[in-house]
Amino acid sequence: MSGTTLDDYTDRYAARIHGMAQSEIRALFAVASRPEVVSLAGGNPDTSALSMPDLSKMFTRLLHEQGPEALLYCPGQGQPRLREEICGVMALSGIDADSGASPDDVVVTAGAQQGLSLLATVFLDPGDIVLAEGPTYVGALGVFQAAQTRVKHVAMDDDGLIPEALEEALADCDRPPKFLYTVPTYQNPTGVTLSDERREQVLDICRRHGLLIVEDDPYGMLSFDGRQPLPLRARDGGGVVYLGTFSKTFAAGLRVGWVLAPPAVRDKLVLASEAQILCPSALTQAAVTRYLTTMPWRQQVKVFSTLYQERRDEMLAGLADVMPSEMTWTRPGGGLFVWAQLPPGLDSKAMLPQALAERVAYVPGTGFYANGSGHGHMRLNFSFPSVERIHAGVRRLAGVIDSAVRLRETFGA
Ligand code: PMP
Repeated sequence: MSGTTLDDYTDRYAARIHGMAQSEIRALFAVASRPEVVSLAGGNPDTSALSMPDLSKMFTRLLHEQGPEALLYCPGQGQPRLREEICGVMALSGIDADSGASPDDVVVTAGAQQGLSLLATVFLDPGDIVLAEGPTYVGALGVFQAAQTRVKHVAMDDDGLIPEALEEALADCDRPPKFLYTVPTYQNPTGVTLSDERREQVLDICRRHGLLIVEDDPYGMLSFDGRQPLPLRARDGGGVVYLGTFSKTFAAGLRVGWVLAPPAVRDKLVLASEAQILCPSALTQAAVTRYLTTMPWRQQVKVFSTLYQERRDEMLAGLADVMPSEMTWTRPGGGLFVWAQLPPGLDSKAMLPQALAERVAYVPGTGFYANGSGHGHMRLNFSFPSVERIHAGVRRLAGVIDSAVRLRETFGA
């Protein structure tokens, strides 16, 4: 009932909804989106770098030439034409026909997020264990929580997931984990990339333990030095389910992503997707297909990468200029995020109200762990704010951190 604050439905909810809490990021949206607040909290690509006149022509032609078809239902697995184009896109990252990638094994989804949700439907029962980097993508945590699973974090450092920590985590599980969920390239939230050597080690460990890998790769093409590492899927055709998306290379608002999976898993994913949404949007699939076939999209990915690289450089320079010497941060080779470690004793979650009062927002590190860790960290986004706002945000943040350091010095950590 509108206006009612009491919840009359508590005894009717499914058990799974009780474990689902609003993510730290969603909770921040309302305040962080006020114009006077510099939000370093988002995860949006900068769609203002796209040519709206060109896109508007493209959409108009699409409706003229394919309107009736694009406004119908389509196959649950996704349009064959788009699935072919997706294979062309993956081939640029090294996942090609030689590594066994075929349009038949692609399932088109409403963003990688739906891909994750489908994988949960297919693989996860309540009480199951999923291994994931610590920290990991908050949206994946949401899916795993909704599936009532236990997330066991595997420690990472500047070279990504630590193979020895993966072995330890496996030894420590009271039942075999269902899969390892990993974002090995320009990770969200850390911006860190799994080194080539570790990629082979992680694959080797997973092969030995029969552990499936779910590789989530939204940022691979947003490389700043053009040295995108070879995805795990390109190194091992059998043991890896690969998630891709057009959210960061084209437009998140279209909600088009995909899963590349071995045939048996693919069939289950299609069943799960049909039960969930019948089929992905034919209209946005047609738009992405047109975009890939008629527009200079690779050039556009370079435009995004160059823009984000400039903003990363500005953010790193700003941090180096104004942050206390005890603070450290990552230097991402691509993607959208920097992960910063606060001076000892400071708590990013406790500090947030003060930061918002000073008109700067970030995401506290706690949002990226299932186990309450992360108080000493924060995620900073550099893809969306302008250079001026990045500098203003970093300066404001430094003021907040300086006050917290002074408080700590006065009252002890
Ligand atoms: N995985 C990761 C690691 C992400 O960062 C995101 C988006 N922030 C997603 C998946 C979901 O992306 P999509 O828009 O394709 O659903």
